Amino acid sequence: MKNKTHPTKQNGNQPRMIAVSSGKGGVGKSTVSANIAVAMARSGVRVGLVDADIYGPSIPGMLGLDTNTPPQMNDENKVIPSEAFGVKIISMAMLTADDQPSILRGPMVAKYLRMFVAQVEWGELDILLLDLPPGTGDIQLTLAQAFPILGAVIVSTPQDVSLKIARRGLRMMEQVNVPIAGVIENMSGFTCPSCGEVSHIFHQGGGEEIAADIKVPFLGKIPLDPAIVDSGDNGSPLVVTNPDSPAAQTFYSIAKEL
Ligand code: ADP
Repeated sequence: MKNKTHPTKQNGNQPRMIAVSSGKGGVGKSTVSANIAVAMARSGVRVGLVDADIYGPSIPGMLGLDTNTPPQMNDENKVIPSEAFGVKIISMAMLTADDQPSILRGPMVAKYLRMFVAQVEWGELDILLLDLPPGTGDIQLTLAQAFPILGAVIVSTPQDVSLKIARRGLRMMEQVNVPIAGVIENMSGFTCPSCGEVSHIFHQGGGEEIAADIKVPFLGKIPLDPAIVDSGDNGSPLVVTNPDSPAAQTFYSIAKEL
């Protein structure tokens, strides 16, 4: 995928900025972002991760970061990002108390996010992943316009409702001229741990169809895997805890594609 025509290819020393987006919440967007970021770091890529999901920041929890200690600033008043599993991370969760909701209006969200990109001492990075808030509203549009995003990855479950909304997300990115780097189908089939039979709880193949429809790469199917829930809850991503599982292998292959 790193050929001349790939939408996320960029020249110069700027990190390639790639957004991870979903039409609605709960489809596993943050899980995908966290696992891909760690898979990239483990493959030697210098990667930063912006948890732009201001209202529901879950990346620090998934990567076992302590959010009780306020972040340090450097001499230039830039925030020093936290680091976990070789990934540099900034998140709203580091700036608010655990039980304090982020009650912010759209323009404030955009302001914080600009700060997350520009006022953080990222150092030398190859890639900066933006885990966008779910949805296709004003905030997402503002974000897509505010940053030089080279490509957007759309995460969807195979359920019809999720796919319909994913299509909306794809169109939104088109409107703001952000190329689609690919579609990921998450929670795609469940393999019974006792008998090995695969059940397609949320149907299957919809993500692939959408990708074929609009002629963008289909990046992969991630199965439903209870180990993903456990690893996320324990602050250690699946690509570290179960690197040989089919889901982790898919994360590694997607990380190589981007
Ligand atoms: P989003 O960022 O889209 O809101 P999350 O990444 O927070 O979604 O995931 C929502 C829940 O689903 C979490 O508990 C997560 O562990 C779980 N989850 C995500 N992907 C999978 C998967 N492939 N298999 C099993 N559980 C998953």
